[in-house]
This record gives sequence, structure tokens and C-alpha cells, in this order.
Amino acid sequence: MDLRFSAEELAFRDELRAFIRDKLPTDIRDRMRLGYSAEKEDTIRWQRVLNERHWAAYMWPKEWGGPGWSPIQRMIFLEENQLANAPDMQVFNITMIGPVLIQFGTDEQKKRFLPRAANLDDWWCQGFSEPGAGSDLAALKTAAKRVGDEYVVNGQKIWTSTAHMADWCFCLVRTDPNAPKRQMGITFLLIDMKTPGITVRPIISIDGTHHLNEVFFDDVKVPVAMRVGEENKGWDVAKYLLGNERTGIARVGKSKERIRTAIEKSHEVMQNGRPLIEDPTFRQRIAQFEVDIKALDITNLRVISAHDKNKDSGKPDPLTSVLKIKGTELLQSTTEMVMDVGGPLSMPDWAAELQALSNEPELGPAWPAETTRGYLMLRAASIYGGTNEIMKNIVAKAVLGF
Ligand SMILES: Cc1cc2nc3c(=O)[nH]c(=O)nc-3n(C[C@H](O)[C@H](O)[C@H](O)COP(=O)(O)OP(=O)(O)OC[C@H]3O[C@@H](n4cnc5c(N)ncnc54)[C@H](O)[C@@H]3O)c2cc1C
Repeated sequence: MDLRFSAEELAFRDELRAFIRDKLPTDIRDRMRLGYSAEKEDTIRWQRVLNERHWAAYMWPKEWGGPGWSPIQRMIFLEENQLANAPDMQVFNITMIGPVLIQFGTDEQKKRFLPRAANLDDWWCQGFSEPGAGSDLAALKTAAKRVGDEYVVNGQKIWTSTAHMADWCFCLVRTDPNAPKRQMGITFLLIDMKTPGITVRPIISIDGTHHLNEVFFDDVKVPVAMRVGEENKGWDVAKYLLGNERTGIARVGKSKERIRTAIEKSHEVMQNGRPLIEDPTFRQRIAQFEVDIKALDITNLRVISAHDKNKDSGKPDPLTSVLKIKGTELLQSTTEMVMDVGGPLSMPDWAAELQALSNEPELGPAWPAETTRGYLMLRAASIYGGTNEIMKNIVAKAVLGF
């Protein structure tokens, strides 16, 4: 297998790189370089710039407003976007509900929702997990009872990212509690977050931000026209969605960006009177990361070529689990390295707030503390999208055959 990019792929990468360099608003780039997460408004602004070129919905076909790119082009796009410190595309809109509607939606659903999802006129969230139904998702209990042309939904979701800012939620609900297999009694619904009976309660994460929520449904009425696929066949839709969720989850570009930042900052940070970059142990650590990243790059290309062959199977490709494990481990450890470069300044920023209150002079730049915020948030990367333990089970069973 030839792992080098072709001349056309290199030209494509250069075109993207120049576009992102010229069009990414400087204020967004500067904040993200410091380690801040993208705000909702940042994501909307950037996604709309890309959508003018039909690049925002990077994995959709041209017919529905995407660019119709090959898997390699998509990989290059994600990496360039991450390397440039640009906000990621809104994942629930672009990699989850968009492809699901293209595959399973009615014509009416496609026409109504797809253009708005690509342009971020609607912000979607994912209502899958429940207390007692995370890794074992088929245990979900939120009930939907059909009454005429509506479903009446009652129950609770948890860990619903960005539900507090969402316009719509795609949800898995139980429509047949007596199905012979739990997976056979589940339906996929699109729920307008403004519907009476929905309560969203915040869960504050370890990094101090409000990203996660509990969502309660109390006699929430959902038109039958908002069902995707057939009643009790929602598990097929969910499996297809999870396969897409794990593609691109390695975020190799982000890990590369973290290494680049560590190297850049290690020229400024002094250790024993010399720049940290001159420390042989530090250089060895960087070299090891570069080897790991190269290996991940190669694995990514292998998965992409295999995924191309399996793409119509409707199931998550088990090989994407390898990427999820290694990609998230690297994302966590490269971020930890940037924190280490920051040294004591990587104390969480509540320390900086205390310092400001006591009128002490500033200790140093803000980037190390912001990196720590990112580090804390990234503890979750090995949990969301399927925990790494579950991914290891999948690899053992489906890839290694144990
Ligand atoms: C930051 C963040 C954002 C999230 N966003 C969303 C969202 O937007 N929408 C949504 O629906 N969900 C979301 N989730 C939920 C996420 O999908 C679940 O947390 C995840 O599936 C794990 O489920 P759980 O938390 O119930 O843990 P559990 O399933 O209870 O697992 C607890 C521990 O046991 C381990 N474990 C469980 N079963 C096995 C097994 N069979 N073999 C080995 N180990 C096992 C797990 O790996 C884990 O370490 C989010 C989670 C996080 C942390």
C-alpha cells in the first residue's frame, strides 16, 4: 500500500491550508491557540464560512450540500482544520444527524433539516445515554407511547452535551418494552427542544464549564413525522450513527498541534538557565510522540481504505475502535506534555483568580492554565463515543477474534 499523498491530494491540502489561513477569524484562532475551547458563536461563524464553499458538511454527498470528498480528502480536511486551531465542525449536526437523515430520513426530513444542519441554523444534540444505559445502551428506558399521530415521551437522558443551547435533539426511545430482544423495541425520534415538558439541568464538568446536561421528558408530544426509520428499528439507525461518530475521532491533527505548541513554548520556557528544548529528556519525549503520531497516521490511512470497502455494511467498522483508543490516548498525553512545559503556571485558573483578588503581580502567561482546562476536559475523550474499555472489547472480539 502506497501511503504517500498523490500530487492531487497535496494540491488539495495546500488549497485548504491557504483558505483556512486567510479566512479563519483572527480572534478565534488566537483564543484557540491559547487553549480555550470554541464558543457556540465561534463554531457557528466558522462553520458558515466553510459552508459557503459546501465544505462544512465535509462528509456529505454533493446532492445534500456537502463537497462529495473521498475519505482521504476528509481526513486531510479535518487535520488541516485542527492544525490551524480552527473550531471543529458541530459534530452532532455534521457527523451524526446529517448522515443519518441522508441514509434513513424521508424526503421531507432531508429537505427541512439538512441545509439548516450544514449552516448551523439548527443546533442538534444527542439524547442516547441514560442513567443505567451508557456502555449498555440497549438498556435505555425513556418511553414513547404512540397516541394517534404523536408519540408521548417520558423519561430521562444524561450527559447530553450542549442540550442547553440546542434547538433539536435526536433521541433513542423505547417503543416496545416487551420486544424479544431489547434492541428490537427502540425507535429514533427528532425532538424539538422547545416542546413543552422538556427540562434541561446543567452538569458542571471538572474543568468548570457547562457542557453537559440532564434532560427530562414529561409527557412530551412528538409528531410521528419526526420518526427516522421504522418504529422499533431505531437500533439500526443508532448503529449507523455510531459508526460515523467514531470515524475521525482520532483527531490526529489536534495531537500534532499540541506537539507543535509544546516545541514552540519549550524555546521560551527556561530550565536550569537554558531553554527547555535543549533538555535531552524533553527532546526524547517529543521524538517518541512523533513516532507514535506517525504510526497513528498510518493506521488512520489503513482504516480509511478498509472503511471504504465496508462503508455500505451499515455497521460501525471495528477498526475505528483502534483509532479511538490510540487517538484519544495521544490527545490526552500530548496535552499533558504542554501542561508540563508550562510547569507551575499550569495550575488551574482559579489559582490565577485568587491571585488577581489579592493584587499580586501576574505570575506569567495564561496559556498553561488554559491548557490545564483542556487537559481536564480531555479526561472525557476516553469515555465519550464509547469508552476505551468497550473499544478494547470490540478490538479483541471483532479484529483479533478472541
Ligand atoms: C464529556 C462527555 C460527553 C458526552 N456526551 C454525550 C452526549 O452528547 N449524548 C449522549 O447520549 N451521551 C453522551 N455521553 C455519554 C457517554 O456516551 C457515556 O458516558 C459512555 O457511553 C459510558 O457510559 P456510562 O457513563 O454510563 O458508563 P458505564 O457504561 O456505566 O461504564 C462505567 C465504567 O465501566 C466500564 N465498562 C462498562 N461496561 C464494560 C464492559 N462490558 N467491559 C469492560 N468495561 C466496561 C466502562 O468502560 C467505564 O469505565 C458523554 C459522556 C461524556 C463524558
